[in-house]
Amino acid sequence: PLVLGIESSCDETGVGIVRGHELLANEVASSVEEHVRFGGVVPEVASRAHLQAIVPALQRAQANAGIDLSEVDAIAVTSGPGLMGALVVGLAAAKALAVALNKPLYGLNHLVGHVAVDLLDHGPLPMPCAALLVSGGHTSLLHVRDITGDITELGATIDDAAGEAYDKVSRLLGLGYPGGPVIDKLAAEGNPKAIAFPRGLTAQKDLVNHRFDYSFSGLKTAVSRWVETRRRDGQEVPMADVAASFQEAVADVLTAKAVDACDYLGVDTILLGGGVAANSRLRGLLEERTAAAGITLRRPRPGLCTDNGAMIAVLGAEVVAAGRRPSSLDIGADSGMPVGTVVA
Ligand code: ATP
Ligand code: MG
Ligand code: FE
Repeated sequence: PLVLGIESSCDETGVGIVRGHELLANEVASSVEEHVRFGGVVPEVASRAHLQAIVPALQRAQANAGIDLSEVDAIAVTSGPGLMGALVVGLAAAKALAVALNKPLYGLNHLVGHVAVDLLDHGPLPMPCAALLVSGGHTSLLHVRDITGDITELGATIDDAAGEAYDKVSRLLGLGYPGGPVIDKLAAEGNPKAIAFPRGLTAQKDLVNHRFDYSFSGLKTAVSRWVETRRRDGQEVPMADVAASFQEAVADVLTAKAVDACDYLGVDTILLGGGVAANSRLRGLLEERTAAAGITLRRPRPGLCTDNGAMIAVLGAEVVAAGRRPSSLDIGADSGMPVGTVVA
């Protein structure tokens, strides 16, 4: 099926067009620059930016795909989870298109879109599989049995998302926003073993209740304390060592629990997605540990790991092909949409 997908859950306005697993267009406009001076995504600012960007993105996507909108079989849109005011902009545009073109509307789960997008790069995913999704807004381990409707969350962060931890640590080191790429680069010059930062929720007692959950707020506090103590004592802060040691702690716990989850589920494929999938150490360590455990690692190209419209379009194509019922035209945005709900 030919599907147009709209994504507006955070700070990216995305419009993608796919035919089955073939990517025809993927236009993304990000408002990240407008959030820099606030050190994080400001919901109100993101909503306004979506309103400005959505129609131009739609026009560019249509032109690049070389199709007429009347040809599409369905309109897919992120209906959650995400920022309420951001989601409603994409939903309003998608509903207007669905009504004007008289095509079915599918309100889809953003997290599942991060998994589905790999179909565009590597074809069908072996089922069941596991997925590790890491971004500025979420950190989740999923058990995927059917991408169009049978997914459970095995674990998630109980406080900060991994990307959020990068952004917060970057701010306290005075390195700006977004923090991921800067820390990743700086860490390359540091010693990852210089400072033993804590690995959240890996103590025996935590494993009992939170085996596959993550926690990064304690790590952030530990980095903050370590740096403050140094500064107070008038000592120089070895920035590269702090960055490398922090990055090692994040990658270590993310990958250890992901491999443990595959073993627990008895799956031999894991997908890595979300903006933090760009992190060099996370990728390197996950490659190492999955290879050692005989697990196949699937990772979409970096440009498809961050939020985009194609991920929603390709999930839409899967959902249409599976014969799922379209969403009602009165669906709302669901900022806390559970991963078990693929189609609203
Ligand atoms: P959502 O959570 O809805 O997916 P988002 O905008 O918060 O949206 P993404 O756009 O997927 O998330 O990714 C942005 C996040 O990824 C930021 O927190 C950024 O710091 C982090 N990031 C980007 N590159 C890297 C990197 N090389 N290493 C670590 N983190 C990174
Ligand atoms: Mg983003
Ligand atoms: Fe996302």
